[in-house]
Amino acid sequence: MTYRSASIFNLALKGVQKLIPYKPGKPIDELKRELGLRKIVKLASNESPLGINPNITKAITKVLPELSRYPDGSGFNLKTALSKKLSVDIEQITLGNGSNDLLEIITRTFVNPDLEIIYSQHAFAVYPIVTQAVGATARVIPAKNYGHDLEAMLNAVNNKTRLVFIANPNNPTGTLLKPEAIKAFISALPETVLCVLDEAYFEFIADDKRADSISWLAEFPNLIITRTFSKAYGLAGLRIGYSLSSPEIADLLNRVRQPFNNNVLALVAAETALADEKYLQLAVETNNKGMKQLTTAFEFLDLKWIPSAGNFVSIDFKQPAMPIYEALLQKGVIVRPVGGIYEMPNHLRISIGTEKENQFFINSLKTSLTDI
Ligand SMILES: *Cc1c(COP(=O)(O)O)cnc(C)c1O
Repeated sequence: MTYRSASIFNLALKGVQKLIPYKPGKPIDELKRELGLRKIVKLASNESPLGINPNITKAITKVLPELSRYPDGSGFNLKTALSKKLSVDIEQITLGNGSNDLLEIITRTFVNPDLEIIYSQHAFAVYPIVTQAVGATARVIPAKNYGHDLEAMLNAVNNKTRLVFIANPNNPTGTLLKPEAIKAFISALPETVLCVLDEAYFEFIADDKRADSISWLAEFPNLIITRTFSKAYGLAGLRIGYSLSSPEIADLLNRVRQPFNNNVLALVAAETALADEKYLQLAVETNNKGMKQLTTAFEFLDLKWIPSAGNFVSIDFKQPAMPIYEALLQKGVIVRPVGGIYEMPNHLRISIGTEKENQFFINSLKTSLTDI
């Protein structure tokens, strides 16, 4: 098909014209089709290697007959469960279609094209996307040892700054900030600058390294915490996350979000997930063991990696990583290249899998390194 109007492109917002679409990890079926491989191991999208929690399958099956109805737009049951679990008021919670949805809602609620958003180099790819989509100016602050340079980020604040994104830990680097450092950073921000603290991997952080960020909400009316059921809870496919903030901010976000941004199945699944401590524990233990398994192998192979607090780890090959990525694909292993927008062309990001998946990856990596 030929398109008649090339000028439509120019009608789009300037920021949108410059946008580079988000590149997800390669789907398993796509690689199967391309290479005719039967066994594929996908360690590319920080998904749970445990698969779906059987309790959730049961709970979802029960509500299938309700799918002809709209979901509860207020998300009352899930919010009540979250409120109990996290000791926050229901009025502080906003639900999103994944936490990605919230990052977008927050930006659309507060940022116009005259304003600026600050985030770090190597930070999560959705920050540049939402910034450009609203036509705002991005202040990308060079990273320090792959992590956020909070001092430089603070120095970049000016009277046009409306929002700062902090990912803790950050994806794809896995770098973790000290709680005191984040708190000092937020304290130093003018109240007119919102701080979005993205805690998508919160559940994986070791207890002694975790920030009690929720306790900060009482002190900082400009703080918004985002979390998700996609990673540790294993519900990436259902799309559900939440934000915690002052009731005032939550009220504003609630005006902008789609009235039914959370579907019936996701609401029930998330509520069930919250009640199942065992699955979460198993997810964290599996992750800790897998991280050790992988990094021990990296050490043995004399490979450098960035210490990670998430369910993934990025290897520094000290040479362009794409040939290694391609060699791994040939062997049926999908990992994530982090060149391009992430500016880490010598790294590959590996999501932590099951013990077997990790071993299959390690073996494939060994032969890939000698192949190239
Ligand atoms: C995965 C991820 C998210 C969002 O995931 P959702 O599936 O939309 O909840 C947000 N921030 C970071 C840093 C992530 O890695």
